[in-house]
Amino acid sequence: MSTKDSLEDYKKKRDFRKTPEPSGKKKRKGKQPVFVIQKHDASSLHYDFRIQVGDVLKSWAVPKGPSTDPKEKRLAVPTEDHPLDYADFEGVIPEDEYGGGTVMVWDTGTYKNIKEENGEEVPMDKCLNDGHVTIRLRGKKLKGGYSLIRTGKGDKPRWLLIKMKDDEADARRNPVSTQPKSAISGRTLKQIEKEAEKQEEEE
Ligand code: MN
Repeated sequence: MSTKDSLEDYKKKRDFRKTPEPSGKKKRKGKQPVFVIQKHDASSLHYDFRIQVGDVLKSWAVPKGPSTDPKEKRLAVPTEDHPLDYADFEGVIPEDEYGGGTVMVWDTGTYKNIKEENGEEVPMDKCLNDGHVTIRLRGKKLKGGYSLIRTGKGDKPRWLLIKMKDDEADARRNPVSTQPKSAISGRTLKQIEKEAEKQEEEE
């Protein structure tokens, strides 16, 4: 996983005449990098954890979603880079398209790279190459430190998403089940699905 990846994989997998997903033309401007966690009801429900690095969203699929309990290590499987405007995408990908299913912005906000060596911030490119990312999230549901750590080797590495021990750590909170709705629209997966159907009928 390097930041030199373009959006080639992302575009190859999708037919933008059929999917409502962004094609990646827009650029996002802001001082702080963004993160988004998208709940994705595809063939199996999972959470896509994405962080802005330069002009793209580096992405991992987290089957169980993030935890606020530092003792929980959540599997995070790297997926292709996504365009920045994917960060506010909510809608329905047609069933026969790649990743077909409903997408919700479960949490979003900004983050800070807090990985330091000798008192200096380690560039995110290096963190990704080293397989050790440490960030502080400022989201609506998730806050505080999280680590993404690569464990496996070879061409299909496994990563783990782990809450750091800090003031925001809470073993009992379990936001994935207690806060299931969209962080930007307040909708459930069902409501997103229904509204997309309605829109299609109107078109
Ligand atoms: Mn997904």
